Amino acid sequence: MDLNKLVQAELDDLVGIYKHLHANPELSHQEEKSSKLIADQLEACGISVTRNFGGYGVVGVLENGDGPTVMVRGDMDALPIIEETGLDYASAVIAIDNYGNETGVMHACGHDIHMTTLIGTARMLFKSKNNWQGKILFVGQPAEEVGGGARAMIKQGLFEQFGYPDYCLATHVIPQIEAGNIMVKPGPIMAGTSQLKITLRGVGGHGAIPHECKDPVVLAARIVTSLQAIVSRELSPLTPGVVTVGSIHGGTRANIIPSEVVMEVTFRFADSETHDHILKSIKRICKYEALSMGIPEELLPIVEFDDDSHLPATTNDSGLTEIIRKAASELLGEDKVHDAEMVMVSEDFSLFRSAGGKEIPSCMFFTGATSAKEMALFHENGINPPSIHNSKFYPPPEPTIRTAVTTMAGSVLKLLS
Ligand code: ZN
Ligand code: ZN
Repeated sequence: MDLNKLVQAELDDLVGIYKHLHANPELSHQEEKSSKLIADQLEACGISVTRNFGGYGVVGVLENGDGPTVMVRGDMDALPIIEETGLDYASAVIAIDNYGNETGVMHACGHDIHMTTLIGTARMLFKSKNNWQGKILFVGQPAEEVGGGARAMIKQGLFEQFGYPDYCLATHVIPQIEAGNIMVKPGPIMAGTSQLKITLRGVGGHGAIPHECKDPVVLAARIVTSLQAIVSRELSPLTPGVVTVGSIHGGTRANIIPSEVVMEVTFRFADSETHDHILKSIKRICKYEALSMGIPEELLPIVEFDDDSHLPATTNDSGLTEIIRKAASELLGEDKVHDAEMVMVSEDFSLFRSAGGKEIPSCMFFTGATSAKEMALFHENGINPPSIHNSKFYPPPEPTIRTAVTTMAGSVLKLLS
C-alpha cells in the first residue's frame, strides 16, 4: 500500500471539505454543524459514531482486530475575529457569542485543517484496514479556544465508555514553517496555563485626602511591577515562564480612591514545579506588597485560583515522538521533518494525557501552514507570515492537508501494524 498515493487520490475532496469548513466557522460551544459534518463523514467510512458527547463532541470508533488503541484528536471551534484574508472561500459568518455580543467568526487557528485531518486520517485507515490491527478513537473536540471542551468530554466519561487509549495523537498548524513540513520535539511542546483573580482591598476615600485612605490602585501598580521579577529574577534563564496581568479594574472617578481593584493574571510554565513556584511567588508578592503599604491583615489581597482554566503543559512522549518522526521522514522525506521549539501558548489536548490517572503516551506535532511565497518574503525582508489568531492567517490548503493527513495516518499505521 502506498499511503502517499492514497492521500493524493482523496486530496481534492478533502480540500473541498476544508473550504466548506473554513467558510462556515462556529464559535466555541456552538460547533453544531461542524460536529455533524465530522460525524457524517466518519460514518461514511463505516465508523460507529457517538454524537453530542460532552457538548458537541464527536467520538468515532474503528475496531479492526486485536491490537493497541490509538486516539486521534481534532479540535473544531473558531474565533471571534472578522476574516481579512480576501480568499474566495473566506468566512462572512456573523454570530452571537456566549456573552450576547455580535461578532465575526473565523477559523484563524487552523482548526478547520485539524478537522479535515481527522476526516482524512479516518478515510486512510478505513481504506488500509488490511495493513493494521487494533482500535482507533477519532475524537472531534469542541471548545478548545476557551479551554472547556476536552474537560467536558473527559468528565462525560470518554475513556470509561470508549476505552483508554494506549496513545493520543494531535496536530496543530504553525505558520513558522512552510506547508509540506512538520516540526516535533520530545518533552514539553506547549506551555501549561493557569489563571488567577486577585482582589486588592484598601480603604477608599477622597482623592485629595490620600493619607486617610489605603489606595488599592497604588498597590495594584506595585504588584504589577513586582510580578515581572518572578520570571526575570526567580526562574532560571533556561526555564520558560510567563506572568501577564491582562486585566485590571478599579475606580470610577479621578477624585475617588476606590476600596477595591480586581486584577486577572495568566501564567505559563513547562512543568508542575515551575507552576507551583510561580503561584507561590504571586501569593507572596501580593501579601507583602500590601503589608508594606500598611494594609491591615484583614484586608490582605485575595488570590483565587481558577481550577477550570488550569491546563498542564502539552508534553510529548519521547518514544511516540520518534515513531512520528520516522513515519514522517519515510513518507514526506527526511528534509521535511524539523525540530520544534516549545511555544508558550497552551492547549487542552494536554488533559487527555493525564485523564486516566496514569500518563498516556501522547504527542502533538506541528504542521507547517505558510505558503512558499510568504516564506520567501520572510526570508527576503524579515516580514513574519501572519500568526495564528490573526485575521489574515490562512494555510495553503493542498500542501497543508496532504502533510497533516499523511503524517497522522502514517503514524497510526506505524503504531498498529
Ligand atoms: Zn487558538
Ligand atoms: Zn488552535
